Amino acid sequence: MIIVFAEQNNGTFKKATCEAIHYASKIAKQSSSGVCAVVLGEANDLAGLGNYGADKVIHVNDARLNNLEAKAYAKAIADIASTENASVVVFSNNNTAKAVAPRVAVRLKAGLVAGALSLPETDNGFVVKKSVFSGKAFAFVRVKSPIKVISLTPNAFGVEKSENQAEVVSHSIEFAATDFNVKVESVNKVQGIVPLGEAELVVSGGRGLKGPENWGIIEELANSIGATLACSRPVADSHWRPHHEHVGQTGGTIRPNLYIAVGISGAIQHLAGVNSSKTIVVINKDVEAPFFKAADYGVLGDAFEIVPRLTAAFKKYKASQQA
Ligand SMILES: Cc1cc2nc3c(=O)[nH]c(=O)nc-3n(C[C@H](O)[C@H](O)[C@H](O)COP(=O)(O)OP(=O)(O)OC[C@H]3O[C@@H](n4cnc5c(N)ncnc54)[C@H](O)[C@@H]3O)c2cc1C
Repeated sequence: MIIVFAEQNNGTFKKATCEAIHYASKIAKQSSSGVCAVVLGEANDLAGLGNYGADKVIHVNDARLNNLEAKAYAKAIADIASTENASVVVFSNNNTAKAVAPRVAVRLKAGLVAGALSLPETDNGFVVKKSVFSGKAFAFVRVKSPIKVISLTPNAFGVEKSENQAEVVSHSIEFAATDFNVKVESVNKVQGIVPLGEAELVVSGGRGLKGPENWGIIEELANSIGATLACSRPVADSHWRPHHEHVGQTGGTIRPNLYIAVGISGAIQHLAGVNSSKTIVVINKDVEAPFFKAADYGVLGDAFEIVPRLTAAFKKYKASQQA
């Protein structure tokens, strides 16, 4: 059986979770087995996870699991993986997976590949491709343990939807008091925009924008194409933008279809989080900016001139499409 952790978020499932289920279903096809999605905490429309390839959903409907509890999550997922005779356990590679997948791997004595980019090659063993050295190279990791744990880079694989429904089974786990270490006092979530990790279009600003008062042009550009905002680390460190927008080695790792970088130099630590983007557009006034080497399209010039013109061009194009 292929197990996939289907993380609920306020009872619903994000696109990256659906992608992980679809990925698990393709691994199941390779090994002629089934897909069992594990849902922890209260959630809705569990049978609907069948749309993305789950044959069965095991639901641990325990309100203590509504928010991340790494120890308890790992125990539940590893217990279910053992009972279901799992050969592979799949996660979407987000912060939850970073906390839980290694614990699951230890409990199952499994090899772990964090940040997989494609389906495992199974012709000669079990080999998974991932990026290494801040995205500068690919590694092909051979996993030799009987059980494998893989976390999939969001947006690396895509989602397909069918009309299938999954069988839903309730399950209870005996937790110890020591499995719960975290007391959640409040949860503050960014509302109304596609979360950065799932965004297909991202507009990002750097120190070249000179100050937070100039972010209007970045927001307008993002709004014109429905993109999510990101920024470089110094921008977040200087409190020009909130920290959840910071991408790079110490921030979020993203893989959108389009990443527009405005006034960002392209330091290696920044590239580490964004250079798997499918198309990179760089706007910078310095011809020597290292980001141009990683760009698919480079615009050399002053952001304060170019960005409003680009926004106007996007708006004009959109209007012509609607006419
Ligand atoms: C351990 C470690 C971890 C780090 N992690 C991260 C990370 O996760 N993410 C991250 O981003 N950084 C990270 N950094 C910092 C990183 O090294 C760079 O310092 C940072 O990315 C630079 O940010 P920036 O490009 O916005 O600013 P700058 O380096 O100051 O670059 C600004 C750019 O804007 C251009 N510019 C200026 N004015 C204009 C204009 N009017 N129009 C167009 N272009 C203009 C300039 O030519 C320049 O290229 C890390 C550093 C370390 C040591």
